[in-house]
Amino acid sequence: MEIKVYNSLTNSIEPFKTIKPNELSMYVCGPTVYNDIHIGNARPVVFFDTVARFFKTLGYNVKYVSNFTDIDDKIIKKAKEEGLTEKELAEKYIERYLKVCKDFNCEEVYNHPRVTEWIKEITQFIEDLVKHNYAYQVGDNVYFRVHSSDKYGILSNQKLDDLEVGSRIDVETDKEDPRDFVLWKLTSDEGIKWDTPFGKGRPGWHTECCVMIDKIFGGQIDIHGGGNDLKFPHHENEIAQVYALHNHYIANYWIHNGRIDFNNEKMSKSLGNTVGAQKLLDEYNHNACRLMLIQSNYRQNINFTYELMTPAVNDWEKMERTYISLYRNLELSNSIKECGYVEKYREEFLSEMGNDFNTPNAITVLYQVLKDINVILRQKEKDIDLLNKYLKTLDEMFYVLGLVPKFNKLNAEEKELVQKWQKARNDRDFALADELRKTITEKGIVL
Ligand SMILES: [Zn+2]
Repeated sequence: MEIKVYNSLTNSIEPFKTIKPNELSMYVCGPTVYNDIHIGNARPVVFFDTVARFFKTLGYNVKYVSNFTDIDDKIIKKAKEEGLTEKELAEKYIERYLKVCKDFNCEEVYNHPRVTEWIKEITQFIEDLVKHNYAYQVGDNVYFRVHSSDKYGILSNQKLDDLEVGSRIDVETDKEDPRDFVLWKLTSDEGIKWDTPFGKGRPGWHTECCVMIDKIFGGQIDIHGGGNDLKFPHHENEIAQVYALHNHYIANYWIHNGRIDFNNEKMSKSLGNTVGAQKLLDEYNHNACRLMLIQSNYRQNINFTYELMTPAVNDWEKMERTYISLYRNLELSNSIKECGYVEKYREEFLSEMGNDFNTPNAITVLYQVLKDINVILRQKEKDIDLLNKYLKTLDEMFYVLGLVPKFNKLNAEEKELVQKWQKARNDRDFALADELRKTITEKGIVL
């Protein structure tokens, strides 16, 4: 199957090919664990989980890594406020983050490296950059020498000379060039620090991902992902450091997702208009939450309002209802069996997913499948083999999108009860049918 992706590095749709056949290496920048994530932060979590599920469905061995930035000035400040050590604070928010992932039905990733466990390797990487003149120490910091890299600006599509010394670039007086970025910060504050050849301090944010990718994957990877807001300077800086030292790109494909606004405003803690991911999951079924996120193309921004949840909830209810009807139909006639897929729809669905992960179009194919199933279920003489094919096809689509219908398979006793009810209805014995229906409802059996 031909897969195409929009590569942010070239700003174009490209044929997708992994470095190793049937193996996907993917790294997505994870959270700085000092607070709870909002739905904008959860978007890449759900989207890249869907990407991983898609590749697994195609038979790829997926190595998906996402880090935890568990050391940062924000963590130190928050730890002090909460009366915890930095480690305790980080662990607290890692646990809460993992609960969000689980509640979204995200599959476990291959590795969740924590920065504090890679300080030795990070230090070594910075030492190597200094040794090769790509970095220098001045005053209290070690900086990357941006003009030493002829790749700088390639991802964000900026020429080095045009680069503005904007708000996201620290203006430090002792730097050789205002665009140079910090690799190591020396500090004498009371926060956690490490003793290194540069002196006691902490790593800057941009080196950790380079080092963890290099050490965990052993070099270049297929996909590097993250939110659009990380493109510059974070991802640009990752590319520059790795290219300087290893003379290759850190990743072949860069995939960036759009952000989520709330009521047409950028979500921010200071504006107090963030929508917590856990809050949304506590209020709504996870399937509806996932649908809300993937019904838009991942590259587009989403303007979230709570009105967006109503169609998502209704859509999921329809999907689930049809799935359960189909399953019960086959279950009650003891005719669930292996019959293969409805190939036409399977191919259409996977090819939409393979077309730069076009989830909205993939969902349209899913709807067509549901429509067909409802037509067949209304027929008097049902094609059992065909229904089995639809069940298997639908199971795969749900798996890729991370959707899970909630119902229990019937045990022998329950099956008998439902069959009796069906017979009473067919015999037009409505009194008995009503009575059996009541028992069925009491037992919590969804039909
Ligand atoms: Zn990163």
